[in-house]
Amino acid sequence: FFLTRRLKKLGLAVGEFQEGNYEYRLNIRGSDEIGILAGAFNEMASSIEKSIDKLHDTEKQRSDLLTNISHDLRSPLTSIRGHIETMLLKNIRLNDKEGREFLEISLKNISGLQKLVDELFDLARFETKQVKAFKESFNLAELVQDTILKLKPRSDSYGINVFMHHDNDLPSINADIGMIERVISNLLENALKNTPEGGRVDLAINAINGKIKLTVSDTGQGIDKEDLPHIFERFYRADKSRNRDNPGTGLGLAIVKEIIELHKGSIEVQSLDGSGAVFIIVLPY
Ligand code: ADP
Repeated sequence: FFLTRRLKKLGLAVGEFQEGNYEYRLNIRGSDEIGILAGAFNEMASSIEKSIDKLHDTEKQRSDLLTNISHDLRSPLTSIRGHIETMLLKNIRLNDKEGREFLEISLKNISGLQKLVDELFDLARFETKQVKAFKESFNLAELVQDTILKLKPRSDSYGINVFMHHDNDLPSINADIGMIERVISNLLENALKNTPEGGRVDLAINAINGKIKLTVSDTGQGIDKEDLPHIFERFYRADKSRNRDNPGTGLGLAIVKEIIELHKGSIEVQSLDGSGAVFIIVLPY
């Protein structure tokens, strides 16, 4: 009776599991074969339950991603279609003031779409490890200086001063120059977008413990505490209303993180209420 009662319990548990009750666990003790079997059943059930949870998470991420992409594609497409339809309907000519305005809005939307599609494509390639870094030795301070110059028209038009500081005799860095330039541009553009007129952005490069540290700090509103842990997630945009221009794709920092990880470096962000954001990158040389 003792034996069959425990075997019956075991059979019941297997039945429950078959029905999809993955939380069901056995309460059979003992060091004999049945006790051991019950222990093994519980362990197996836990690991299957974990795998199923993981599958659900992946499925949710996939569906969230599709929702985000569709939403971000839909709004500019609707706007372009609306403007072109109105032009056709009202017979607005391209050289009319209104016609020009409509075309400019459409072009802006198309540029946004292009950026989104390009960044999605790049991010997918990074995430599936299809991208290789072509490393070469270069001077990071020069690259930072070049990038600041490239973005000077933008920083000037926003009325923001950009400064650079670096240790003397910095060692050269061995990295993919195009990718690192993308990282610097991205962080600098973000700083410019999120800093009010009259503010400043500082880029600093220091050599520490055999590594190179690049810090980008601004005097903008900073990033809220609740947003900080999510800032590197794809499509995460903290507060759209604050951004200058358009709200952006929310993919830039996800790409930056992929690039830094590909170079075996690290990136972190700090922000204290209202006193700007600080992005810190550490790269091996
Ligand atoms: P995007 O800038 O295209 O929206 P990112 O991935 O580059 O996407 O940035 C994600 C979000 O992080 C931005 O939408 C913005 O809310 C926030 N963020 C990034 N950099 C800064 C910064 N320097 N100051 C304040 N917020 C920032």
